[in-house]
Amino acid sequence: MLTITLKPGKEKSLLRRHPWIFPTAIDRIEGKPEEKNKPGATALVRSATGQFLARAAFSPKSQIRARVWSFDENEPIDHALIKRRVKKAIAYRMQSVRDTDAIRLIFGEADGFPGLVVDWYAGKQGHLVCQFQSAGVEAWKAPIVQALIAETGCPNVYERSDASVREREGLPLVTGALAGNEPPEETLVTENGVRYAVDIKTGHKTGFYIDQRDNRRLVMEHAEGRDVLNCFCYTGGFSLAALKGGAKSVVSIDSSGEALAIGKRNVELNGFDPARAEWWDADVFKTLRALREQGKSFDLIVLDPPKFAASPDQVERAARAYKDINLIGLQLLREGGLLYTYSCSGAISADLFQKIVAGAANDAKVDARILRRLHAGVDHPMTTSFPEGEYLKGLMLHKP
Ligand code: SAH
Repeated sequence: MLTITLKPGKEKSLLRRHPWIFPTAIDRIEGKPEEKNKPGATALVRSATGQFLARAAFSPKSQIRARVWSFDENEPIDHALIKRRVKKAIAYRMQSVRDTDAIRLIFGEADGFPGLVVDWYAGKQGHLVCQFQSAGVEAWKAPIVQALIAETGCPNVYERSDASVREREGLPLVTGALAGNEPPEETLVTENGVRYAVDIKTGHKTGFYIDQRDNRRLVMEHAEGRDVLNCFCYTGGFSLAALKGGAKSVVSIDSSGEALAIGKRNVELNGFDPARAEWWDADVFKTLRALREQGKSFDLIVLDPPKFAASPDQVERAARAYKDINLIGLQLLREGGLLYTYSCSGAISADLFQKIVAGAANDAKVDARILRRLHAGVDHPMTTSFPEGEYLKGLMLHKP
């Protein structure tokens, strides 16, 4: 069997149940030549003294050379394990996620499937959408798909393995049906009483930002009678929540015309008065400045930008961008107004994000109150051993 032996002392992170093994930790790899070149082969991981540490999926081309399947010496990596874990992941969501039919069923490492994302839209008649981001889950694709169908009763599975992280694993970018029907152009979901159209085949991620569900609900609860500005609105997730919550007006900005078209469609799907909603195809950085120059102000502002820092070396530049939009956001906010501000950069911790926002508030001369610290929904859990899983963080601020 393929065996990875670590250098002395390099077993520490595995003993803390951290699931990634980097090339610098590896002393030697032994096995048949065909195993040593096989992406996704299961490897036994041992310490320098020969102690069992884990079974892991080997990825010869990746900087994450192996990802742990199991720390239990008695747990073989087989079809039964795949089934068991799929079942567990789904049971947890069925128990903990309410008021939606857009659910993340599997969230990578947190569910014992390193590099796998599975979202479920629109129930049994809808679609399961999978993203295989690592060689390990790629190698077990067929049994994973089989288990998903068996556990959900949904026969339609679509693959959106078009995320660039695949390239770092040496895997090609692919999309297409894995089972059942191709998704239609528009899949309708209902989240907290709001209907949204999702474009599974070409939308961002798997079509929808499922992770912001609870935060959209929070905006819904505080939107009544307010003038709302939603920056980086995509298909209007927060905008529709604000309209549902009784916002007086909602201005939504995004640089993607396709996303805005779905946003408008969402207004129609919910029967809201289109006069309450404006959709601006524009750059947020420029538009925020223009609004400030025009002396405009709002009662509730959402800032949910794309990932500004894709890796640790981009943190400094990203911090400046976050500070910039938050500074102007606070300036555009009326007294008594609310700012919901987010970062989905894994390289920026919740702590650092709060410091950046504090810097923005300081420059804006606002003693902003932190009403809440915000996170992704419960279907995107973070585990104690894998804090890297926390990518989305946010703050709900009040301008006194
Ligand atoms: N809040 C959304 C998700 C936002 S994703 C939701 O809940 O669904 C980030 C969005 O920012 C994308 O739609 C992208 O098109 C947009 N975007 C990226 N850079 C931008 C820029 N400089 N100006 C305006 N929009 C931008």
